[in-house]
Amino acid sequence: MTNIAHNTDPSHAGLPHPHDLQRRSLAAVWHPCTQMARAAVVPPLPIARGDGPWLIDYEGRRYFDANSSWWVNLFGHSDDGIKSAIHQQLDTLAHVMLAGCTHAPAVELAEKLSALTGGALGHTFFASDGASAVEIALKMSFHSWRNRGQEAKREFVCLRHGYHGETIGALAVTDVAVFRDAYAPLLMQAHVVASPDSRQGPDSEALALADLRKLLEARQGHIAALIIEPLVQCAAGMVMHAPSYLHAVRALCDTFGVHLIADEIAVGCGRTGTFFAFEQALASAGPPQAGETPSGGGAHTRAPGGTHPFGWPDFITLSKGISGGMLPLSLVLTTEAVYQCFWSDDVARGFLHSHSYTGNALACAAANAVLDRFASGNVLEHNRQQSAWLQQAFAPLQADTRVQHLRQRGMILAFDVRPELAGQRFAERFHLAARQHELLIRPIGNTVYLMPPYLVDEPTAQFLAQAVTQTLNDVLHHAA
Ligand SMILES: *Cc1c(COP(=O)(O)O)cnc(C)c1O
Repeated sequence: MTNIAHNTDPSHAGLPHPHDLQRRSLAAVWHPCTQMARAAVVPPLPIARGDGPWLIDYEGRRYFDANSSWWVNLFGHSDDGIKSAIHQQLDTLAHVMLAGCTHAPAVELAEKLSALTGGALGHTFFASDGASAVEIALKMSFHSWRNRGQEAKREFVCLRHGYHGETIGALAVTDVAVFRDAYAPLLMQAHVVASPDSRQGPDSEALALADLRKLLEARQGHIAALIIEPLVQCAAGMVMHAPSYLHAVRALCDTFGVHLIADEIAVGCGRTGTFFAFEQALASAGPPQAGETPSGGGAHTRAPGGTHPFGWPDFITLSKGISGGMLPLSLVLTTEAVYQCFWSDDVARGFLHSHSYTGNALACAAANAVLDRFASGNVLEHNRQQSAWLQQAFAPLQADTRVQHLRQRGMILAFDVRPELAGQRFAERFHLAARQHELLIRPIGNTVYLMPPYLVDEPTAQFLAQAVTQTLNDVLHHAA
């Protein structure tokens, strides 16, 4: 709405002409994750406003935001609760630096997050974007080992096709060729181990664990941390694995004295069925397996090494959904044990990292409103119902020979179009065709996925399945 009011181009009587916006955007805005030469052929879609799960263009056409605007939106684009929390905060304090000062929204948010981990990760360090949170977790892990006299631990491990952001440090633990290759000469070397990709059959988990164990044995004393996306490797194309893998990984990290960083930037905030995806690994904790540290008494007792309360990761990164998709915010949660490594009279032993907008009060207020929703509502229970509706609506695709690996974890549903049918520029063609069916969706390669806002009812699930199927018909027909 403000866009319209602020438009000063007299030729459109106060309304920006969509084609004009496209032209100006291409001239002045360098779009992310975009080959701009291609954007000149397929220009960006000008969006005028958002309403619930819908995005509405300047011609009044609506599109269901099937990927929650890059996985950030939880409760729709115009959620009153989050909006009013931001408005209220704006009337008192928009921002103050968190060095030497503090403010209620940051304190409350850190306390709530600590409570959500049962106190296991009781310390929150704030930043603004997901990649910064990843940088922080990497630096904190290395520095904590260094402060404990274990400077040799400075190597990191990530999973095949894992994604952790695109700043130089985060990109070093990202294994997505299209983002990484051009910058490879600039990046620190990380170890890449096999992914427990469920599409590769029942052995994939055991093979991935064996690969990890082999590396941890070979590089014992040199590895600071393993970073993973729990349950779903999203940017890889919604590659899924079982909670039992995470549980076994936690045990391996204990055995070899390696920190575990759970990057929940995309999978956190209820997306996979629990608030933190990693919680499902705690729940799946069976009897200790060979080589695994015995748990003693449940998730919150201390492991013998004293590095972390048993079961939980040493670090959790959050961003994207934490502010409901309205303001940029990211954070790193960590344990008392890590925190204590920095406690000293010596300034240099402290964690001196900072970003200007660290712990922005407006963003924290939005995040508090999100967590209040989880605390007072039945968000997770409602999500289970929504994911069941999605499952039912998409079930017919199970028998569709054009696709394979239909898979789902909570509010993420995905399938792969058979590579031999997908044809050239499948993702772009699918995206454009879907717009004709009121759907804004961006496949990753030949993986079509939905990661919708938590606003799916039964008719909406049916609409989504229909729109996806019709788009598939359009696109594969034209490809044939
Ligand atoms: C999106 C994402 C990031 C990076 O977050 P940005 O805010 O885009 O920098 C890191 N890790 C995962 C798992 C992500 O999905």
